[in-house]
Amino acid sequence: MGNWDQLRDSLDGGLVTRDDEGYEDVRALFNSAIETRPLAIAQCASVEDVRRALRHARDAGLPLAVRSGGHSVAGASLVADGLVIDMRGLNSVTVDPAARTATVGGGATWSHFDRACQPHGLATTGGRISTTGVGGLTLGGGSGWFERKWGLACDNLLSVDLVTAAGECITASETENPDLFWALHGGGGNFGVATSFTFRLYPLAACSIALLLWPSEFGLAVSRRWRDIMLDAPEEIGGAAAYLTGPPEEFVGNLVGKRCAAAIVTCMGPVEELRAVIAPLLELAPPVEVVMDVPYADMQCMLDDPPGMRNYWSADYLTDLPDAALDVFCAGGEDMISPSASQLLMLPWGGAVARNAGTSAMANRDVAWVVHPFGIWEDPADDEQGRDWTHAVGAGLREWTTGATYLNFIGDEGADRIMAGFGPHYPRLAAVKALYDPDNVFNRWHNVQPEVSLQR
Ligand SMILES: Cc1cc2nc3c(=O)[nH]c(=O)nc-3n(C[C@H](O)[C@H](O)[C@H](O)COP(=O)(O)OP(=O)(O)OC[C@H]3O[C@@H](n4cnc5c(N)ncnc54)[C@H](O)[C@@H]3O)c2cc1C
Repeated sequence: MGNWDQLRDSLDGGLVTRDDEGYEDVRALFNSAIETRPLAIAQCASVEDVRRALRHARDAGLPLAVRSGGHSVAGASLVADGLVIDMRGLNSVTVDPAARTATVGGGATWSHFDRACQPHGLATTGGRISTTGVGGLTLGGGSGWFERKWGLACDNLLSVDLVTAAGECITASETENPDLFWALHGGGGNFGVATSFTFRLYPLAACSIALLLWPSEFGLAVSRRWRDIMLDAPEEIGGAAAYLTGPPEEFVGNLVGKRCAAAIVTCMGPVEELRAVIAPLLELAPPVEVVMDVPYADMQCMLDDPPGMRNYWSADYLTDLPDAALDVFCAGGEDMISPSASQLLMLPWGGAVARNAGTSAMANRDVAWVVHPFGIWEDPADDEQGRDWTHAVGAGLREWTTGATYLNFIGDEGADRIMAGFGPHYPRLAAVKALYDPDNVFNRWHNVQPEVSLQR
């Protein structure tokens, strides 16, 4: 178990054990259904703290978890009866406008990141919810509104500073530890503790968003028109077809609390450009029509979900989206628990997501669509219904799904799904894992087992 006082005294940050006041607040993740109770949480304030906490856990034989934004729906950032390395204190962001780069601490959120970049008119692909951690999202790939143009978040990594399982501080980039750098593009938290990330940034002069809502019975017409728009849309256009419950906002009018069909369209340009693209959707006269210019950092938090709810979700890839598949998608939307904060999303891939596949450990990036049932509810009595709904959406679409999945969008669905996520890249990941974490210390995220005999 270890001597907590000794560890506490050695840290620049703090240590919270089960006996300490505030433990439950520090332990809480975005998903309130996760009840895992670590023995202690090391609130790291420096890279040295990360090394101290890691050494302590290893010397005491304690299981370990790494936590940044705390948005792992499966609870990978906590560990029962072990020690958590909490990275939230390492959240600085330094922007170099001339070089168009940003260096961000391993515990920052996308809100920290986007707010720091915005004054410079610079941005890159980040998560669609601003409270998600840069760390977990990027290491797992990193899907965001402008990925079709800029690639996934991991595609824009220039380097990662990491504390390895042996406690060494190393840098991974195209020229230093390049195998590890490749593995950090989608291999998740399997390889060490990332203490900082440096990203490439892009100028973004203008951006706009359309949030259009209809009563759910319009879902078939809406999703077909949205699909047709996305099939021909330039890479500057992103978005989602969705089912959701009308949020309690004045502009939502009498759709508040009602099951809605939605189209979200994002544009790397002013609202006039966006309006031209979404004209076929506007012909369907959405009762809720928000179409506006918006600063990127504000757009990134427009759909922020409330923390403290119960979450379960899944994801599947599709290469085509015929009308029959959309019929099943819409039936899934009609079956969603409502009212609730749940969402059923269909996201368009293509463009830079597929183009950059060669440089990343994330497999199967050449698919055209991602379906993402995202169950969020409040009452534990709805747990079974929420889980069943999530799985039923994927099962209903089986005729069109590839069998592969995006690991950031799924919880703990077993070893076969991990293999489905890593696909042909698993052997090379296992070999990199054997080099940098031979004892499998970092095993909480979709785990890659160290395996030297596997081909690289
Ligand atoms: C509301 C919500 C919205 C989301 N939206 C998106 C989205 O738009 N696009 C997308 O791709 N994904 C999205 N996700 C999924 C998200 O990317 C993953 O759940 C991711 O793991 C969360 O990262 P985190 O740092 O917040 O999580 P945490 O729970 O803190 O960490 C999850 C795991 O990531 C690893 N990790 C985190 N930080 C580090 C670090 N510094 N060093 C080493 N390992 C680390 C650890 O293994 C950890 O167990 C969303 C999740 C939620 C709950």
